[in-house]
Amino acid sequence: MTDLYRIEKLDKKFVWHPFTQMIDWEKDQNIVIERGEGVYLYDIYGKAYIDGISSLWVNVHGHNNSELNEALREQIDKVSHSTLLGLANVPSAILAEKLIEIAPKSLKKVFYSDSGSTSVEIAIKVAFQYFKQKGRAYKNKKKIIAATSAYHGDTIGSVSVGGMGLFHSIYKPLLFETIRITYPYCYRCPFGLKHPDCGLYCAEEAEKIIRFHAEETCALIIEPMIQGASGMITMPTGYMKKIERVCKENDVLLILDEVATGFGRTGKMFASFHEDILPDAMCMAKGITGGYLPMAATLFTQEIYDGFLGNYEDNMTFFHGHTYTGNQLASACAIKSLELFEKNNLLNRIQPLIIHFNKLLKDLTSLETVGDIRNIGLMAGIELVKDRDTKESFEVKRRIGHKVIIEARNRGVIIRPLGDVIVIMPPLVIDSCTMDILMSVIYDSVKAVTL
Ligand SMILES: *Cc1c(COP(=O)(O)O)cnc(C)c1O
Repeated sequence: MTDLYRIEKLDKKFVWHPFTQMIDWEKDQNIVIERGEGVYLYDIYGKAYIDGISSLWVNVHGHNNSELNEALREQIDKVSHSTLLGLANVPSAILAEKLIEIAPKSLKKVFYSDSGSTSVEIAIKVAFQYFKQKGRAYKNKKKIIAATSAYHGDTIGSVSVGGMGLFHSIYKPLLFETIRITYPYCYRCPFGLKHPDCGLYCAEEAEKIIRFHAEETCALIIEPMIQGASGMITMPTGYMKKIERVCKENDVLLILDEVATGFGRTGKMFASFHEDILPDAMCMAKGITGGYLPMAATLFTQEIYDGFLGNYEDNMTFFHGHTYTGNQLASACAIKSLELFEKNNLLNRIQPLIIHFNKLLKDLTSLETVGDIRNIGLMAGIELVKDRDTKESFEVKRRIGHKVIIEARNRGVIIRPLGDVIVIMPPLVIDSCTMDILMSVIYDSVKAVTL
C-alpha cells in the first residue's frame, strides 16, 4: 500500500493547482481526499466531509455510486477507448439519442468533446463557420455577443467570450473582440434600477445592442437563468425569453451555456426549461457523467448541421475534434447517469428538497453580513457584505469568503467561494437531514468569521 501520509508532501512538491495562488497552498495545511461515499468525501486520515459543492458542480448521484461503478466495469471489459474520428462506437451513439431526447426540442445533433471550455469553443467555431458557408448575404456575421461577467471556460476562445476581469483581463491581447450585453444583477443593478419597477430595462438595453450589431454578429452566448462563476447571479423572469426572441428576429444564433446548470441542477433537467427556450446550440459538460469522468457535448439544430454538408473539396467540413471525443467509458457513465435520473425519479424527488433548501437559505438572512441570497434549484450563492444597508463589500485582502470555507472545513463541510459569495451546490441525492447539517455548518462558519 502507498504511504498515504506522504501524499501531501508529494502534492506540494510536484502539483500546480488550478485557480490557486501556490504560495498560499504551500504554506497551508491541505486536505488530501482518499475516497468518497454518497455525499461524503473522506481524507487520508479518515475524516468525513459533506461535499457541499458537488466536487466543483459535477456530482449528481453521489460518490462511489454502485450503479455507475458497475456500468463502468461493464464497459471497461469491452473497450475503454477507440476514436470517433472515422469510427463510431456503441455507447456514444446510444448516449447521443438520449441527450437529444432530454434536450430542448430544437436540437438534433450531438458533437462530443471533453470539457465545458471545449464545448464552448465548438459552439463558437460552428456558429462562425455556419454563416461563412451560408452565402454572401451573411459574410459580415463574424462577431459574438456575450454577457458582462460571463464565464464560459479557460481556453482562449471561451475566455474571449468570458467577462470576468479577475481571470481574463491579463490575456486581453490574445483574445478576439466580443460585443457585450449587460447581464442582469438585480442586487446591484448596473442601471441603478429596482426590479420589478424597472420593467426589465436590462432586456430592452440588450435588445438594442443585439439589433444594432445583428448584421455583423453570428451568435450570442449566455448562461441561461443563472451565471455561475461570476457569483451565482440569477436573471429576472422574462429576460431569457426576450433575448431568445430578439436573437430569432435578427438571425443571431442563440448558444446556451448549460455547462453548470444542466442535468437537474436548477430543478429541471436544463435551466432553459424554466422559460421554454429553444436554442440553436447548447453546451453541456459538468454533470453529464454524474461527476465521474470528463465529457462534454455541444448540441445543434438540424439547420446548422445541414449547413456543413457539401462535397469534400468544397471545404465545408467541421475540422475540429479532441482526441478522446466520444470516449466509451465516459459515454457509458453518462448513459447510466441518465438512467438513474429516470429510475430514481430524481427530478421529482428533489422538488421537496428544493423547498426545504429555500427555507434554510432564508434562515441565513438573520446574519447581518448576508447581503443577498440567490438560488435556483440546488444551485445557490450567498453574497456576504460588510454593511447590509449600503451593500458595501468587504476589503478583498480580508479574504472573507476564503476564511468562511476554512471554518466550514474544520466543521466537516467542503465548499468553495467565489470571492465573498459562498457557493452551495450539493449533489442532487443529498437527503434533508444532511442538508440541515450542511446549512447549519455554513451558518456557523459565516457567523464565526464575520460577526
Ligand atoms: C465550468 C464552466 C465552464 C467550463 O467548463 P470546464 O469543464 O471547466 O472547461 C463553462 N461554462 C460554464 C457556465 C461553467 O460553469
